[in-house]
Amino acid sequence: MAGRIPQHFIDELLARVDIVEVVGSRVALKRSGRESKGCCPFHNEKSPSFYVNPVKQFYHCFGCGAHGTAISFLMEHDHLGFIEAVEELAGRAGLEIPREGPEAGPKDRRDDDLQALMTNVTQHYRSALGEDERARTYLKQRGLTGETVNRFALGFARNSWDDVLNTFGATAAGREALMATGMLIERDAQNARGAGHYDRFRDRVMFPIRDARGRVIGFGGRIIDQGEPKYLNSPETALFHKGRELYGLYEARQALRQVARLMVVEGYMDVVRLSQAGIHYAVATLGTSTTPDHLNRLFRVCNEVVFCFDGDRAGRAAAWRALENALPQARDGRQLKFLFLPDGHDPDTLVGEEGKEAFEARLETAMPLSEYFVQGLLQDIDLDSVDGRAQLAEKAKPLIARVPEGVYRELLLDRLAREVRMPAQRLGQLLGLTHRTDDAGQGGGLVGTQANGFPGGARVATASSGRPARPTLGQSVSPGRGNLVRQAITLLVQHPIAARGVRDGGELDGVERPGVALFLEMVAVLREEQIGTAQLLERFRGREEHPALERLAAAESLVPDATSATNELRDLYARLVLEFGPKQRQDALLTKAADLGLSPEEREELRQLQAKLRPKHPAAS
Ligand SMILES: [Zn+2]
Repeated sequence: MAGRIPQHFIDELLARVDIVEVVGSRVALKRSGRESKGCCPFHNEKSPSFYVNPVKQFYHCFGCGAHGTAISFLMEHDHLGFIEAVEELAGRAGLEIPREGPEAGPKDRRDDDLQALMTNVTQHYRSALGEDERARTYLKQRGLTGETVNRFALGFARNSWDDVLNTFGATAAGREALMATGMLIERDAQNARGAGHYDRFRDRVMFPIRDARGRVIGFGGRIIDQGEPKYLNSPETALFHKGRELYGLYEARQALRQVARLMVVEGYMDVVRLSQAGIHYAVATLGTSTTPDHLNRLFRVCNEVVFCFDGDRAGRAAAWRALENALPQARDGRQLKFLFLPDGHDPDTLVGEEGKEAFEARLETAMPLSEYFVQGLLQDIDLDSVDGRAQLAEKAKPLIARVPEGVYRELLLDRLAREVRMPAQRLGQLLGLTHRTDDAGQGGGLVGTQANGFPGGARVATASSGRPARPTLGQSVSPGRGNLVRQAITLLVQHPIAARGVRDGGELDGVERPGVALFLEMVAVLREEQIGTAQLLERFRGREEHPALERLAAAESLVPDATSATNELRDLYARLVLEFGPKQRQDALLTKAADLGLSPEEREELRQLQAKLRPKHPAAS
């Protein structure tokens, strides 16, 4: 998918879908007055404090403060990206997403065609499995039930060079599409059999690899008996990017209401077998080591990631590589752990032998990254010798430098310092790092929003993971209080139709007060198009004002209906103009100048106002 999604489409989409239905298909809701309520999916609760408002097309939890539009809900609840969430809603509403920009159009259609082909091939492999006794026996012997086979849509690639080729590649276009999805391999003319194509996957159990929305984008194939390679993946294609995709992530999110942790294992069979044993949170990389992209995706879903490795030499080496790749992603609030299985065991066989509980008990003993880091560094180093310490510094320096500066890095340094019995500060110097003693590293702390010009100074707690923490009730915003601009903005967010109470906002043009520019921008948008709260909020997604606007939308409205909101805004606007309007301010200053005299600052302000007002009203005032 490429090209930007036009704003008018987001407007239309949010006008077509009903947030009550979207949320209601995932959370049990009951009507409560004009709203619907249920138990919040974002925190544990027994009595419902999660409300969905059909007028604002907005949800809000009074327990944990979660809130947002239908798009936000899918992003938070289904862990989708923005585009994926829009695609999901569009599919639901039966709308096709138009795209803007040079890459839009043909490429999207082409991706859709390839996607459809992958769906058909998956179906083909599934029926082939149904017809093949040997493949079914193999899966049974691996302990898989029919339910698991269906959930992961496992299939079978027949022992044939041209089964897929003949089924889907009758035309040149068909063969070309099969090539583009990596299902065929091209044979050149030098080959004894002449130029042509043949099936990439033969005589293998097929594991469809699905993207975040469950669409098949590639396959992993495991050989049934003996043969090489044991595992074979689809190559990189337009649909399939190994460095980004994780096998089992879609299935994990389908199986679990809330994903508390994810475990990275080596193979597809491990993922499937663990899931069958009731451990639904395993995922596998696809023949690559874990990339920063992988980790970012994992941490978007949960805060705890456990790497699971075989305890042998190769496993240890792979684990250390994973650690090196993980260091840049390490930060406060993210838990990274390492689990080593007994020598010669993989999760597949182990969970089969000992069952879910025993396996999960192992997980409790997984080593935190900091622990593994220190252990790994100290291996083969004699700390009692000067040489040893120098060696350690040498080894640790490039690794610690990969960790983003902040609380977590300090923690690693402290941990290492304790181990080598050296003050952390000295160790930091030894490693060429500056050691800060305050904890206001870039990871933590409170970030005020006042600086962005939003009035009222609502403070947003930012968790060190980089995600905004949900504001608690105490931080929520009450409309009707606070300054005039804030009240006006609150009214607009809660009752966008009230914008008709403002003629054109011209009287406030150029007023440099916090929030006035934002207010005028909102009025301009709303005067142009009749949109609701959710659409208005989506216009500001990604802007620094967005979280504050969402909080205003979540606050309880003190104005009962559109008519009173319009009147209220008309009144507020008049008061704003009285307070800030340049003409009014100029008059007030002139009056004051005549009565009491002006301070130097006021004289300067008056001079600037007169300069500003003159060209606009040349002859008249
Ligand atoms: Zn909640």
